[in-house]
Amino acid sequence: MQQSFPMNGGDGPHSYLKNSHFQRQATIVSRTMIEEAIAKKLDVKCFSSNPFRLADLGCSVGPNTFIAMQHIVEAVERKYLAQGLKSEMPEFQVFFNDHVANDFNTLFASLPTQRRYFACGVPGSFHGRLFPESSIHFMFSSHALHWLSKVPEELLDKNSPAWNRGRIHYTSGPEEVSHAYAAQFEHDMEIFLSARAKELVIGGMIVLIIPALPNGIPASQNPFGIMFDLLGASLMDMAKEGLISEAEVDSFNLPIHLASPKQMTELVERNECLIIERMELVDPRSNPAGPINGKECAMFLRAGLEGVFAQHFGSGIIDQLFDRLSKKIMESSHQLESGNKEGTLLFVLLRRK
Ligand code: SAH
Repeated sequence: MQQSFPMNGGDGPHSYLKNSHFQRQATIVSRTMIEEAIAKKLDVKCFSSNPFRLADLGCSVGPNTFIAMQHIVEAVERKYLAQGLKSEMPEFQVFFNDHVANDFNTLFASLPTQRRYFACGVPGSFHGRLFPESSIHFMFSSHALHWLSKVPEELLDKNSPAWNRGRIHYTSGPEEVSHAYAAQFEHDMEIFLSARAKELVIGGMIVLIIPALPNGIPASQNPFGIMFDLLGASLMDMAKEGLISEAEVDSFNLPIHLASPKQMTELVERNECLIIERMELVDPRSNPAGPINGKECAMFLRAGLEGVFAQHFGSGIIDQLFDRLSKKIMESSHQLESGNKEGTLLFVLLRRK
């Protein structure tokens, strides 16, 4: 069964809406890359249909999705004008996709009033078909594809070398654990890419922005990997104090995988209909990156991860878990600040042949 852990809904202090500025930075950093992709590579002349259909996969509740969709609509409009196709300017339709448990009410209530597109919600997992064949011209997905469809089963099997005792992720774990995560990611991506290849029109494009690792760099040198270890260590401290049991920690694993450019390249190359137009690591941090703020980092992680922890450990431990995390982040700030400099996000541009 596919698992779903929605980001914190509503607009309260712990909501995704109020704590997603880190992900927003990715939208800003990748804006010129997307504009360039549309200006140079999107062949709008081959699209006969009106409206122009655009989809955001794993959109959450906003506002990041609205910013990204507006940028793409504007870039496509400029492309039509640049090609002398003013009279053929299409209307735009934007499909906002996320799991059924996503807070679509908050998303729809905050839709920009000045938008230049017709909006619709598409509930369901992107690890499967979401749209009719050859119906979408441009797809976008930011900070969503690192979520696995489920935790690999062998992590919970006490007799397996991949039993992930005392940890909540593959960071700092044995090779067998990383392999189990990688295999699940590959399985999920194969389904994702084959569904998107069917849904995109010929010449259609897809932009993926994914938390990632440079080739050959272990997750233990990546800020996300380090933070997942700190979350695991906070839980183990709580287990030692008797607030939760160690067995509860042993049976919990974060369904998150950090891909490398090499792994993504191999996966796309297995798909016969999609070709890579551009793939590179980017650094979402503002330049120069300021000092780490433990509380802010913990709030940002909480907005995205509270659901997955609450479902397993109960909501009673959440405040304490993220308080402890915030202190551990400050203690490890040096390690986090000196973490890999090559970029922690993978920008991928694919075209449907
Ligand atoms: N794209 C937004 C939100 C990122 S949060 C931004 O950049 O700010 C990640 C979102 O992906 C969550 O809302 C989560 O529910 C969604 N997601 C994860 N796995 C998914 C799946 N299989 N199908 C659809 N949405 C998924």
